[in-house]
Amino acid sequence: MSGVGLDPKTAPTFPMAAKAMLGDTQLRKNVRHATDVIQEKRARVVGEMPDWQELREAGRQIRRHTMEYLDFYLEEFEANCTRAGGVVHWARDAEEARGIVVGLVKASGSDQVIKIKSMTTEEIQLNSALEAAGIHPYETDLAELIIQLGEDRPSHIVVPALHKNRQQIREIFQREMKLPELGERPQDLADAARMFLREKFLRVKTAVSGANFLIAETGGVCVVESEGNGRMCLTLPETLITIAGIDKVLPRFQDLEVMLQLLPRSATGERMNPYNSIWTGVDAASSGDGLRDGPRVFHVVLTDNARTEILADEEGRQTLNCIRCGACQNACPVYRQTGGHAYGSVYAGPIGAILTPQLQEMHHAQSLPYASSLCGACYEVCPVKINIPEVLIHLRNKVVKQNTAGVAGLFDVEAGAMKAMAMIFRSERRFRAAQRLGRVAERPLVRRDGQGEGWIGWLPGLLGGWTQARDLEEMPKETFRDWWERRGRDGN
Ligand code: SF4
Repeated sequence: MSGVGLDPKTAPTFPMAAKAMLGDTQLRKNVRHATDVIQEKRARVVGEMPDWQELREAGRQIRRHTMEYLDFYLEEFEANCTRAGGVVHWARDAEEARGIVVGLVKASGSDQVIKIKSMTTEEIQLNSALEAAGIHPYETDLAELIIQLGEDRPSHIVVPALHKNRQQIREIFQREMKLPELGERPQDLADAARMFLREKFLRVKTAVSGANFLIAETGGVCVVESEGNGRMCLTLPETLITIAGIDKVLPRFQDLEVMLQLLPRSATGERMNPYNSIWTGVDAASSGDGLRDGPRVFHVVLTDNARTEILADEEGRQTLNCIRCGACQNACPVYRQTGGHAYGSVYAGPIGAILTPQLQEMHHAQSLPYASSLCGACYEVCPVKINIPEVLIHLRNKVVKQNTAGVAGLFDVEAGAMKAMAMIFRSERRFRAAQRLGRVAERPLVRRDGQGEGWIGWLPGLLGGWTQARDLEEMPKETFRDWWERRGRDGN
């Protein structure tokens, strides 16, 4: 019943998947409408902040400093969390993280868990591991519930069901909740979800959560959300298991002051999230009258899953500064046309284009660094100033190096063409000769328009990619160099 996992190892390449998505006009309409609404709200609340740029810079500094001393802050978090009654586990990769969580759920004696939205659990494909172990996960975030009931896949970091419109959601609820009379007002849908989930909140004794931030100074965990389902998962069950990437740590409690201004504004255009939950360990001293505050058992699974390798890469490292607000997705012209599924990963849009290839081995996600026009819109909106275009270029460089390495590189047509170009550009004589040759070679391909301008609408072989969606102008009769020399000779 859970959504189908998105796995870049088996997903089609971005150009292939994007082509299919571009044919889905309903999906494109839904994505464009939703991102327009969020962007407009974001611009309004960001415009209210005269010190927005200073806040962004503060956010960047905090994240950069944290990554520089990540080992120190993680150990500080572990010590403080343990002191407060939590149990900290370390997972090297997704498999280890899945194993730890499944083991903990089994130890809790439950064969069901309630979950609050967590990208990390999506990243490690926890739901399928739980189901394989006979444990049923219930998503409680409204959008995640829609995805789960519709056996769909998330397409946005913050709004996973952004590609669905209200009618489509109503159909899923009617079918899966057995409510044939259900109306389609937002209120009707919210009421249906509330009734469906309430029984789960009250019955299921084990919860799995993600974390927006881990606070090293106190050992506390912070989750921000809009619906209150998270608060229910964090307080009602007896066992709470939190899974967090090791990049989620913040040094001090006070750093939340900056992050909790940046995150909600960038994510959903809200001044503050309606629910901000921060918990530290467990309340071991349950009162004798049976009253207690929150779970009795609390575990944190700190997951690496390639993050230390990203940290070791000086240029790629800034990717770990991400606070998962999704603003870059809403601003990206490529994402707005294709939607999230084309990225073949739980992380879509510009952040997905840089994070996925680094989380996965590069050859599994080679096309993603090219899934961008490099327009810079993502950099402009990022609340912690991650220079996504810079990382994209760095990753493209890695892809090229990977493809041209070894014997296979000798047979790579594109690499061969690039080497030939480099050789031509290095010599003025060769460059002029290539220009002359080009002018002769293009002749049979040039077509004249009504004004007599020459255009090339088709190129052979690999070059055909250029002319699939655009026409190429005929080469000028006189090059700049020729004109410059003539100007010198003629004296004008
Ligand atoms: S890269 Fe920046 S804009 Fe994109 S999700 Fe992360 S923090 Fe938000």
